[in-house]
Amino acid sequence: MKEKFQYVLDTFNQVYNLDLTQNEISYGLEPTAKIHIKQGRTTALERKQAYFPDKNQIIWKIWNHREIPFFFDSENTEIYTEVDGTHIINYDIIASSFFLLSGWQEYFSTEKDSYGRFRCEDSYQYKLGIMSIPVVNYYFDILKTIWEINTKKTVPLKNWNGSKFAACLTHDIDTCESGWIQGSFHAIKKHHFITPIILASKKLFNQDVWFNFNEILNIEKQFGAKSTFFFLAQNKPNLRIKNADYSIEKSKFETVFNKITSHGSEIGLHGSTGTHTNLEMLIRDKNKIKLSINGNRFHFLLFDIKKTPQVIDNAGFRYDSSLGFAESFGFRNSFCFPFRPFDIQKDKSFGYYEIPLVLMDGTLQKYLHLSPSDSIEKIIPVFEEVIKFKGVITILWHNSHFSNYKYPGWKDTYIGILSKCKERFGLLDSCSNILDIYLNG
Ligand SMILES: [Zn+2]
Repeated sequence: MKEKFQYVLDTFNQVYNLDLTQNEISYGLEPTAKIHIKQGRTTALERKQAYFPDKNQIIWKIWNHREIPFFFDSENTEIYTEVDGTHIINYDIIASSFFLLSGWQEYFSTEKDSYGRFRCEDSYQYKLGIMSIPVVNYYFDILKTIWEINTKKTVPLKNWNGSKFAACLTHDIDTCESGWIQGSFHAIKKHHFITPIILASKKLFNQDVWFNFNEILNIEKQFGAKSTFFFLAQNKPNLRIKNADYSIEKSKFETVFNKITSHGSEIGLHGSTGTHTNLEMLIRDKNKIKLSINGNRFHFLLFDIKKTPQVIDNAGFRYDSSLGFAESFGFRNSFCFPFRPFDIQKDKSFGYYEIPLVLMDGTLQKYLHLSPSDSIEKIIPVFEEVIKFKGVITILWHNSHFSNYKYPGWKDTYIGILSKCKERFGLLDSCSNILDIYLNG
């Protein structure tokens, strides 16, 4: 468990800008340091075996006003006790943190959807009703608190250039040439027969309603916000899934890229279908964008935990932002900061950072069937959790959802979210900028 303990400790240190070592915090059966974390039932983790905790064996305790689960312990006791000057955490917060951060359950799960994705409904987060709670941050909060008690020092939370949390704004660009067709179909279904004529005549003058990059940039400018635009570099379908409806090589995208970067926003790659398990294809996609690219998010959120992290690392990305669920908003790895994914086979972390995806337009509209106006109220609890830890909430709003054709009302929801973030003193920025501040701030 030494490597796994070090991985969790490194992730913890990054959150609180600390530099604690295994000499200062011990983990095992007996204490060897002033602060000790009791090891629980971790045989499965040590032997790299499937481990699916029995729901009835999970122990629930309240910490920081929330009931949180502990996955590896057998005795229901106080969260921490002090014995002769040694502070003992009685629950195995290392194993539980590692279990959630490493995606252990998806690694060993054989249940996948028709695209090979791990399903939200199969996750402990969903089954235990903790999708909206960044449980690992609560475990870290326990350790931080005990450290503060022991050292009589206060450990400050992240400082986002003076802001109280960070909202990482992103846009996946799947479609920007076919708004006139899709908008027309939608209008005809609603018996609005004049709309197709308007959309077709605009298209004749090369103005597709979803080619709306200026509009998005102008909205964000009003909030002093920057964002990341993930572009697809492949327009042929693959794995029975459509890719882009545009060709990234057309010269007009050079103008678009210049506009986006001159606003201080970022261009990233939206890895096309199949690239998540194919390094050559991913590199080919990356090279089609003639800019230096830091990050990626896979189209359809395709992700195979046994192959994808290695592909991302080998392709030289600094970050990925694919780990979220389409079916539900919340925390797939129960953590509200960027983190290095863990290589379960080699027992060490990967080099890139995952900036977990928390909230997507399609989740609210397509999967949860919420109306644009009801959505904000529903997502407030997730924001409250992120604000509690001064964490990061990554938001995906497709460019098509800024248009009133097919997706009426969703632009206002996005604007409403940005207003809420501003009201609560959030930093609104791109993936790369947020990762920079996180690692250096
Ligand atoms: Zn996509």
